[in-house]
Amino acid sequence: MERGRPQTRTETTSSRRTGIRTAENQTIMNPHSEALLSKVNPILAAKVRSMAEALAAQGITIIVVQGLRTVAEQDALYAQGRTTPGKIVTNAKGGQSWHNFGCAVDCAPENTDGSIDWNANHPTWKAMEAEAVKVGLVSGANWVRFVDAPHVQLTGKFPEGAPDTEAREFYAKGGLQGVWDAIVPNVPEVENV
Ligand SMILES: [Zn+2]
Repeated sequence: MERGRPQTRTETTSSRRTGIRTAENQTIMNPHSEALLSKVNPILAAKVRSMAEALAAQGITIIVVQGLRTVAEQDALYAQGRTTPGKIVTNAKGGQSWHNFGCAVDCAPENTDGSIDWNANHPTWKAMEAEAVKVGLVSGANWVRFVDAPHVQLTGKFPEGAPDTEAREFYAKGGLQGVWDAIVPNVPEVENV
């Protein structure tokens, strides 16, 4: 039992009184998930909320467990299972993960007691993966070389596997927003007749 961690929908509602910013259309994700979503590409965040909504209709609650990761945090994660204790969880060094560009989040279904269900063979995971694809996200569950079931990303024209030179150039010029705008431009489309 983790009393310190709000997990239920009732607590999400109560978080509004504490002033945690939420998007207009969201009622599903818990405050911790929302805090992580607030730092990634807003279009990715909106898609994750749609995914959570569709899953809630099936009786499945999901939470976001990882969002934007700094290069230093990514390096620490890469070291895990290699030079530090633990299991290898990523093949990406700092700057090589879409998490470093706010283009990826990791999600997991919750058990009814509020704990996280880490059994990726469970049907709730399959439902989550299916909904991710339905809302237009890439699901790491479908990767062959390194299956990454919690991982979803929105990377548009860029390579799925890792940020390339072009993505890095957009980042160097315009920061996170520069990369996000290159994926889904935040401007009205010019008619091209
Ligand atoms: Zn991930």
